Amino acid sequence: MAAVVALIPALFLALLALVPPLPAQAAGPFFGLPVPEGTCHIGCNFDGLGCYEPGLYHSAVDYVPNAGAVNVLATADGTVAALFTINDPDAAQHGMGNAVVLRHLLASGGVVFSLYGHLDHFDHAFHIGERVSQGAPVGVMGGSGFGQPTFWGTHVHFELKGAGVLGDPATGQYEGYTPTPAENWGYFDPNAYIGQVEFVPLSQEWVSQPSTPAGPGTTTTGQAVQFSSGGAACNWGHPVQYRFDWGDGQATAWQDAATASHAWGRPGRFTVSVAARCAEDTGVVSEAATSGVEVSGDPVDPPSGSSGDSGGGGCFIATAAWGAGSPEVWRLRRFRDACLSQAAPGRWFIANYYALSPPAARRLRENPALRPLVRVALLPLSFAAGAWVRWGQWVGWLALLAALWLGGLGIDAAGVTVRARSGR
Ligand SMILES: [Zn+2]
Ligand SMILES: [Zn+2]
Repeated sequence: MAAVVALIPALFLALLALVPPLPAQAAGPFFGLPVPEGTCHIGCNFDGLGCYEPGLYHSAVDYVPNAGAVNVLATADGTVAALFTINDPDAAQHGMGNAVVLRHLLASGGVVFSLYGHLDHFDHAFHIGERVSQGAPVGVMGGSGFGQPTFWGTHVHFELKGAGVLGDPATGQYEGYTPTPAENWGYFDPNAYIGQVEFVPLSQEWVSQPSTPAGPGTTTTGQAVQFSSGGAACNWGHPVQYRFDWGDGQATAWQDAATASHAWGRPGRFTVSVAARCAEDTGVVSEAATSGVEVSGDPVDPPSGSSGDSGGGGCFIATAAWGAGSPEVWRLRRFRDACLSQAAPGRWFIANYYALSPPAARRLRENPALRPLVRVALLPLSFAAGAWVRWGQWVGWLALLAALWLGGLGIDAAGVTVRARSGR
């Protein structure tokens, strides 16, 4: 017994040995040098005193080329936050010249901006929000400043700071030099970032979930009501777009506005959901937020021009004659869906109608004078549709035959009908 008891700690230790060690925390990627390694030396360092004027502190690290000008590189993955050129109206007011500002995300949370000043020129015509990978060239080193292409000796003025602006983040009035140590003005020491601080790679892009769509809990058919959401954001700072799905097969397009309105065509309980996506990288879509709406009342004609109407596109002639969304078009469409498509002869009629009617509808649109005639010609069919729904399919078939005989081949019969009417 004692031997068994003595074995227990040994067993425990043996089990412990089987537990794998915790994986080491993945390190990096880290902020990097803004110039190719080994090509430059530091001129004026961060917080360097009197590099430009006595008593002023340097807000950046200046990298000076050992030989000729070199490419200036993105210190970390980021997006373009601001661009300044020597052709800007206020370019003569500041010494930064051609400058690119990038926005970076810290792995620890938060945002930091990098500025590359005095560039000879940009690598290419950047746009705000553009993604730039770590090590990608932002431009060629130069000496631009105060509206001139070569005001300074060739170097890059490399800043890290808390806002995507030209000057100091605290007041905006000091560019490149500050009256007290630069960290008091919203600047960070690049030496403390390079090779030490982790950034979020560009591949990690997401859009936060928008707020629950707010709208009325109940409504009636045909009554347009508004839903509003908002609050979604892309982690890279891009603008976002919203899309509302109404739960009845219809949805808005992607739009900048976080509000939209809709009228349901039939009663029931519907789920309204809204999602957001990045406007710059449109494949990045948020989780959807949902709420519900209770719709009462009788089915109604959906508003014209509504999207996502799966039964739409049909009734070409009637649509051309009356216009989309008219009651006649709606009645004929319901007749087709509820009755005609249920029986083989009806399906034969539909198939032939759709084969023949688009050219006829086109002629009708091109010649609006024919519209009243066709409306009259379709009235018997509309009557047959009503008879079918009301009295069943046998009366419906008789009415349809009568309609075809009366309505016949459209224009001719319409002419007869018009003559009959005018002769009354
Ligand atoms: Zn500088
Ligand atoms: Zn984005």
